[in-house]
Amino acid sequence: MSSGFRVEVPTVRYFERQVLCREGCPVRTDAGGYAQAIAEGRLEDAYIIARTPNPFASICGRVCAAPCEAKCRRSALDAAISIRALKRFVCERFGAESSGFDLGRVYPGLAQQRRVGGGRKVAIIGAGPAGLACAHELALLGFAPTVFEAQQVAGGMLVLGVPEYRLPREIIQAEIAAIESLGVEIHLGSKLGHDFSLTDLQRQGFEAIFLGIGAHKSRELAIEGVHFDGVLRAIEFLLNINLGFRVELGRKVVVIGGGNVAFDVARSVVRQAERFADMNESELRQALHSAAAALEELTTREGEPPDEVRIALDVAREAIRKGVPEVHLYCLENLDEIPAAREEIEEAEKEGIKLHTRWGPKKIIGADGRVTGIQLIKANRVFDENRRFNPQFIEGSEEIVECDTVVMAIGQAADLSWVRPEDNLKLTPRGTIQADPETLATSRPEVFVGGDVAFGPRIIITAVAEGQRAARSIAKFLTGHVPELPQTVRVTTYDSDVYQMPVGYETMTRQTPPVLPLDRRIGIAEVELAYPDPNARRQATRCLKCHISPVFDGDLCILCGGCADICPENCLRLVDVAVLQGDASLQSAIFTRYGHLPERGEQGAIIKDETRCIRCGLCAVRCPTGAVKMERVEMLSA
Ligand SMILES: Cc1cc2nc3c(=O)[nH]c(=O)nc-3n(C[C@H](O)[C@H](O)[C@H](O)COP(=O)(O)OP(=O)(O)OC[C@H]3O[C@@H](n4cnc5c(N)ncnc54)[C@H](O)[C@@H]3O)c2cc1C
Repeated sequence: MSSGFRVEVPTVRYFERQVLCREGCPVRTDAGGYAQAIAEGRLEDAYIIARTPNPFASICGRVCAAPCEAKCRRSALDAAISIRALKRFVCERFGAESSGFDLGRVYPGLAQQRRVGGGRKVAIIGAGPAGLACAHELALLGFAPTVFEAQQVAGGMLVLGVPEYRLPREIIQAEIAAIESLGVEIHLGSKLGHDFSLTDLQRQGFEAIFLGIGAHKSRELAIEGVHFDGVLRAIEFLLNINLGFRVELGRKVVVIGGGNVAFDVARSVVRQAERFADMNESELRQALHSAAAALEELTTREGEPPDEVRIALDVAREAIRKGVPEVHLYCLENLDEIPAAREEIEEAEKEGIKLHTRWGPKKIIGADGRVTGIQLIKANRVFDENRRFNPQFIEGSEEIVECDTVVMAIGQAADLSWVRPEDNLKLTPRGTIQADPETLATSRPEVFVGGDVAFGPRIIITAVAEGQRAARSIAKFLTGHVPELPQTVRVTTYDSDVYQMPVGYETMTRQTPPVLPLDRRIGIAEVELAYPDPNARRQATRCLKCHISPVFDGDLCILCGGCADICPENCLRLVDVAVLQGDASLQSAIFTRYGHLPERGEQGAIIKDETRCIRCGLCAVRCPTGAVKMERVEMLSA
């Protein structure tokens, strides 16, 4: 193995673009880097790689929507690497929630050259992921950020929306405490527009302001009956549950919506049920014992029961135990179109939630001011030919479903009722604060914005990325320049006789992390569990190491085609140079050293299909002249 080539920056960018998990992550987390570190047993290194770009690494290890997994090259082969679960695995050992946590090891010396802020005061409104990430980045840059939060608790939707059975609260508290340890002050119960205005903040000496107030208003459906008692809005429902208030629910609950929020609502309803179960304790115990005995008898009589019997019995047993109401979820989409994560749908169904696809609500029926049912209508499409949301319904297909609670989970919007003309903030027709997509500057010079309030409800990691980007824009606004860490390029060339991928990596299958058995899913008990150590390493070993590429030295190649012949994925092709020069898309896949086009007059070139390469290195082994080498090209922060 050797290193030390000088490589041009555009060339490095080409190689960086091949690391699709990092490209897919809004904060550019090098997920492949930490997966490979886990596979090699370098667990603390893995944590540092995961935490450096993301102050919410531990939270993301539990609930990130994982856009990196959607991009993972391995999914073209069989299934993506379990990147999120691997992050959790290392965070549990070294993250803010662990006894081994040391922020100093993540930011050694706090990169003095970046500390340009000189303690200047910046106000941040909203203690959600966007606001806290902005505060974290500003603190690292040497500013003095103060966060103003309307609620009595920090964390935004992480605490107010995401249910505790998916995200334990002590993890949120630990990550926020780490941010505070950098000198960030958080003022709870301080609401912009109620307790203070933007101008008040300026008077108090804040030189810039970041707005990260999220999207906390549930969208309303303009149908008859939405104002009956018993019709609830998803965000208000979750917020009340998460803040520990009791919400009255009936025996049959209908949830409308097909997104993650709708599933969070439905699964939270199931968990709420235990609060109002009308069985007394001895009846519950009796029912539980009967269910357990039935399962045991079946197992003894017939051997291990089939999965579906076990699941049905588990569901029934759980329902009896808790006095669970019926929970039905109706959504416009069919199963393939539902935006919620697959595992959410599967777990919800296991928990007994009945899913009804391709139905839309038409009107809510009630008596004496209270909901008694809902009229639904069958949908035959959700999106039109241009993929725009434009549902079409089948007249005459209406059905009435009796119920005593309806929860609407059909989207959120920002509450901007506090904005006054003198605030000089332009709003968009979509009900967000207008922002420059690059700098996140608003129409008021010292005010920046990010997260759900800027571009509508999305995911945690986009909010974090925008908080950080806004922090850098604020630094530029206040000091005149954007402090970037100096970067160097490192190229590592592997000896073809030594380079090898882990044995069997190409046939290892994705294994989802274990989950809590149904009969233990009570209240806030966390459902998804961590990988045991050997499983994590095995899963990490599946990584295709997109950082490493076979590169081709045009001076040594004799164009024998041996590399293309031996490639098990058929991703190498020997082509005529003329083909390359006529086709721009092929040019991006050229496999000569660092992507240079072959000179005119050369007879041919090798091109590579980047999507299929599994980094096995056989091409390098097969090459008779040593023209093909496996190389790792990285851009490193100094
Ligand atoms: C139920 C639910 C489940 C979700 N699950 C996931 C998930 O599993 N994975 C994922 O990636 N994303 C998930 N999301 C999305 C994610 O939570 C949000 O995209 C993210 O929290 C947005 O961050 P933010 O900082 O922009 O806003 P928020 O998290 O909403 O934070 C905004 C903060 O501003 C405060 N605030 C509002 N108005 C004012 C004011 N006037 N003055 C002072 N403070 C104010 C609020 O109280 C809040 O604390 C979920 C969202 C919901 C609703």
